[in-house]
Amino acid sequence: MPEQLTTLSQSSLQDYQDCPRRFELRYLQRLAYPAIETEPALENEKHQKEGEYFHRLVQQHLIGIPAEQVGKLANTENLQRWWENYINAKDLTGFKNLSGLYPEIALSAPLGKFRLVAKYDLIAVGKDQVTIFDWKTYRKRPKNEFLHIRWQTRVYQALLVQAGAHLNHGKPFAPEQIEMIYWFADFPAEPARFIYKADQYKRDWDALIKFADEIASASDFPKTDVVSKCSYCPYRSYCNRGIRAGDAADAELETEAEELFDINFEQIGEIAF
Ligand code: SF4
Repeated sequence: MPEQLTTLSQSSLQDYQDCPRRFELRYLQRLAYPAIETEPALENEKHQKEGEYFHRLVQQHLIGIPAEQVGKLANTENLQRWWENYINAKDLTGFKNLSGLYPEIALSAPLGKFRLVAKYDLIAVGKDQVTIFDWKTYRKRPKNEFLHIRWQTRVYQALLVQAGAHLNHGKPFAPEQIEMIYWFADFPAEPARFIYKADQYKRDWDALIKFADEIASASDFPKTDVVSKCSYCPYRSYCNRGIRAGDAADAELETEAEELFDINFEQIGEIAF
């Protein structure tokens, strides 16, 4: 049992599923992602930072700062394009009609011996329904089938049922009220939508409990047998699984980790690229 570990998130669950060794290195040994050395990887890192910054811009807009003001902070080519796409996206213009917008909100609930935590980009509570939005700045538009089975989709929806009652006048949301939308800043007209259902919720929560129990009783953390997963893993050098990095666009789909710490928005002007 990894006693030093008290919380689980969609990222840690995904890591455990993809490669227990990666889970061990990142969440138990708490090894920071090793430094990135090659040129394409530097480009990748820049893209990742821009993605984080884009989330902050949207968050600022959603808490009421005028778009013109926030837009001025979109100071790179990628950020300008994403921001334009965000401002012009038809799917996103209904926000003002919704009664409750909760950007950058964290929810948590007990899960076996752990707490399950998730930070949402936006939960938009309407009259009879609730929509989870997640902004993605991927260079490739992933297939819906890929997203559907990711722990992020399952955790975000199940946890909203489990821990979202305070957003719904004290009453838990019914799974059927929930929709999750991945909105892709580079593919603004192709969001991925997932409607939730009661039987899916039951399946997801049961699977989460089972998975948490498995992690709680794990005593060794083997390397994945799927060697292709190593080609974009930042821990390759710890595992003798090759030096050359894989394709950066694939890497961002597979190794993304959500930021669970509070963001200090006073620093927003200080981030440079
Ligand atoms: S390099 Fe491969 S075996 Fe090592 S942590 Fe990464 S995915 Fe797992």
